[in-house]
Amino acid sequence: MRIRIFDTTLRDGEQTPGISLSPDQKLAIAKKLDVLGVDAIEAGFPVISEGEFKAVKMIASEGLSADICGLARTNKKDIDAAVDAGLNYIHTFIATSDIHLEYKLKMTREQALEKAIEAVEYGKSRGLLVEFSAEDATRTDRTFLKHVFSEVAKAGADRIDIPDTVGYATPEYMAEITKDAIEAAKLPISVHCHNDFGLAVANALSGIRAGAQCAHVTINGIGERAGNASLEEFVMALKCLPYDQKYETGIKSELLYETSRFISKTVGVQVQPNKAIVGDNAFGHESGIHTHGILNNPLTYEPISPELVGRKRWLQVGKHAGIHGMNAMLAEYGIRPTDDQAKQILDKIKIIGDQGKQITDVELLSIASNILGEKGIKRIVQLTGFSVSTGIGTMPYAFVKLNIDGKDFIGTDYGVGPVDAALNAIQKITGQISELRIKDYGLASISGGSTALCEVTIRVEDAQGNSVSAKSIGEDIVTTSVQAVIDGINRIMLKKMFNEKQIGH
Ligand code: MN
Repeated sequence: MRIRIFDTTLRDGEQTPGISLSPDQKLAIAKKLDVLGVDAIEAGFPVISEGEFKAVKMIASEGLSADICGLARTNKKDIDAAVDAGLNYIHTFIATSDIHLEYKLKMTREQALEKAIEAVEYGKSRGLLVEFSAEDATRTDRTFLKHVFSEVAKAGADRIDIPDTVGYATPEYMAEITKDAIEAAKLPISVHCHNDFGLAVANALSGIRAGAQCAHVTINGIGERAGNASLEEFVMALKCLPYDQKYETGIKSELLYETSRFISKTVGVQVQPNKAIVGDNAFGHESGIHTHGILNNPLTYEPISPELVGRKRWLQVGKHAGIHGMNAMLAEYGIRPTDDQAKQILDKIKIIGDQGKQITDVELLSIASNILGEKGIKRIVQLTGFSVSTGIGTMPYAFVKLNIDGKDFIGTDYGVGPVDAALNAIQKITGQISELRIKDYGLASISGGSTALCEVTIRVEDAQGNSVSAKSIGEDIVTTSVQAVIDGINRIMLKKMFNEKQIGH
């Protein structure tokens, strides 16, 4: 069965507290969503501001493959704004629950129903495709909700949406009212689920199982309060879970991670590390038992392969590590210790891990090179010059000189602070060599006072999704940060060179 994906990242997602996008940013996101393969894009709420109107208009006239939709309350002004923005598809809504009617709309059920019918009729008279939402449907009197759906269907609505506005539904109830809506309206049904109890995706799936054809979702599950059903989780659950029926969507799943990262960066909302599918840790393994299993057959501890969603698996060593996982990590850099050496390396790792410390890839490599008696692992990138200026009334500015494989490079850049300026300057140089980005940056102070030591932990990632973690300790925050980044860059380039050599042979 083909399930329709209605993406509302640009409407409900943008209603996340703290998110506000310019028309250009919204257009860039719409293009990404279109490439990903969503069926419909809710581009915004045209009536709310001039910028929003402009954004919706730009998206509507871009000639994208997805249907472009705009939100409208049940009044002529909102619907006219949608038409003026060039839309031919609206999502119009009015609340139907008693709590919303009494305290928000100050209307009776009958008045709300009348408004709903008028809006649907007006939308149709203006030549629009009309999707109708009964806001707070899941807290609406069930008999009244059925009545509303049947009346708006008679008025000419094309689609019905069931919003679980405050995430109050159980999967069982979502299934029940989806069946009600199908029976009452005899139209294609969408479900719009919120995550207040962490059930958004489960509820959306339950709606689909009960006969809904479409779900309203957002990338990374962004949205008001706890967010909306997450597109990536919903799509992958439909695709991979052992249902007795086959479900298909138009989503190119291998683009999910890239799209998630793009949206996270554009809207400025980080994805939690343990988020399903797109979180940093979703395909990361530390425990020895798990890494051993993974190395024998990834399906032992990964329900799906990371490549399916455009990702790469990563392993980390720590106090839970085992010899197999550690050797596999070292092999990625072309390092092959003997059994005895491997045991010595692992012993050191466990001692550090037991002190409650994280062991980065760079530390693993330096422990290994000490035990293997090598002079140290080749450094491709050397920091040969560095200065930074900062103050009040001036923008922090950094100068960085790097020697990469015998060639000198100079980079300069501004930043919001001295660390940011330095990292920007480094990325300007490494960007010319290969696309590297600094993913995580963590700063901790080790001891108190103004002479405290600081500890900087970073993760660097290349365009292929390979990532390396590094840590540096020092007195100067800026220099220590730069050192950690240079270490990380060195290791990722080493990993890359080794892997390219492997492929070449
Ligand atoms: Mn919503």
